[in-house]
Amino acid sequence: MMGWQSAVRDGLVEVGVVPYNGFTYDHVNGTKIGGTTFDADGQRHTAADLLEYANPKGITLLLHATVHKILFKTKGVSRPLARGVIFRDALGKIHKAYLTRGEMNEVILTSGALGSPQMLMLSGVGPSKQLKAHNITVVLDQPNVGQRMMDNPMNAIFVPSPIPVEVSLIEVVGITSFGSYIEAASGENFAEHYALNDYGMFSPKIGQLSTVPPKHRTPEALEKAINAMSGLDDAVFRGGFLLEKIMGPLSTGHLELRTRNPNDNPSVTFNYFQQPEDLRRCVNGLKIIENIIESKSFSKFRYDSLSLPALLNLTASAPVNLLPKHDNVSVSLEQFCKDTVMTIWHYHGGCHVGDVVDQDYKVIGVDKLRVIDGSTFNYSPGTNPQATVMMLGRYMGVRIMNERLAKEKSQN
Ligand SMILES: Cc1cc2nc3c(=O)[nH]c(=O)nc-3n(C[C@H](O)[C@H](O)[C@H](O)COP(=O)(O)OP(=O)(O)OC[C@H]3O[C@@H](n4cnc5c(N)ncnc54)[C@H](O)[C@@H]3O)c2cc1C
Repeated sequence: MMGWQSAVRDGLVEVGVVPYNGFTYDHVNGTKIGGTTFDADGQRHTAADLLEYANPKGITLLLHATVHKILFKTKGVSRPLARGVIFRDALGKIHKAYLTRGEMNEVILTSGALGSPQMLMLSGVGPSKQLKAHNITVVLDQPNVGQRMMDNPMNAIFVPSPIPVEVSLIEVVGITSFGSYIEAASGENFAEHYALNDYGMFSPKIGQLSTVPPKHRTPEALEKAINAMSGLDDAVFRGGFLLEKIMGPLSTGHLELRTRNPNDNPSVTFNYFQQPEDLRRCVNGLKIIENIIESKSFSKFRYDSLSLPALLNLTASAPVNLLPKHDNVSVSLEQFCKDTVMTIWHYHGGCHVGDVVDQDYKVIGVDKLRVIDGSTFNYSPGTNPQATVMMLGRYMGVRIMNERLAKEKSQN
């Protein structure tokens, strides 16, 4: 671990985020070094890697295919029964795929927190009023589909550095007792990319913090964003940032269909900071960050001439989101939380266990359909969720396979 991350680690401990737990995968209060899905060569690993270990016999994997609808049998059955899907292949051709005979065969939906509620609704399982508004035949009136959508709000303070900093993504983590999760990233690549009009993590084209939504990235929109960013002080892109995200969150929102096209994003409202406790966690997290910035451990990465309000103003003047900024953003941490809120992309919910699926991830009220993905999560503690979602998939896969094997054995 290099300078910036080490200074944040020491700063966290200095300001009381203790004990220091060293390297651990565990979610425990204190300061730690976290795990990563990148390997030693910088290669990131995903669920697709697990295919290598699968038995390919009987598996057909279609790339760039889009499911348009889950098909249900509704006649002659006591309740709707999933029997297949309609999908469009990579060449745009429409197909229907049906489950083969077999008591345990089923459709498993894994389209994620935005995709799974959307797909259920497109297939007729959801709030009937909304489905009817889109001329979708109601298979099951299920008002909870798309409800209690959550996204852990993230807020960051950008800290321009007087000395060079290493390129680093999240390594050190501070887990506080009050529900705020502190991390840091840095990179002189911000400055290098600045010269190339790319802006690293802020890159309008590819950046995680881009303010231009992926589907709006026309050449004109990108040029406009780059022009807006080139008007900013160079200091914004030199140094790094300390960020906090809150656990939970307690505030929830909802997802609604905009069209019947599965390629169109649904409309999602997360209601960031609607619950006062979420705002309190954000403010307390920012106070810790301010203390770290002022700590002895972090002093070499900080311009003495830049006061904390000046740093808050600097962040608020960066295009972190599309919200209007208020005059008191540098003096009220509550206002700073609201005005500079970003996503850390850990949105979840919409098909909660107990509301939309049961304990076995089976969709309540229909047969032969499960949802197994981040849409079933009702809480995200701050730790990055990807590995947990992958392990949920593995856990359920192993369980379903064992149930099938046991069934086959009992029938022989
Ligand atoms: C920009 C970004 C950065 C992130 N960084 C991290 C990180 O560093 N660490 C971490 O732990 N987590 C990170 N996350 C969060 C993590 O990726 C998610 O929590 C996790 O992938 C959720 O898994 P999932 O299976 O629920 O959904 P997804 O991974 O979103 O999988 C859903 C899949 O379904 C497909 N799909 C959707 N609709 C259809 C359809 N109609 N037909 C066919 N396919 C469809 C989608 O294309 C997608 O491949 C990040 C997320 C984003 C967006």
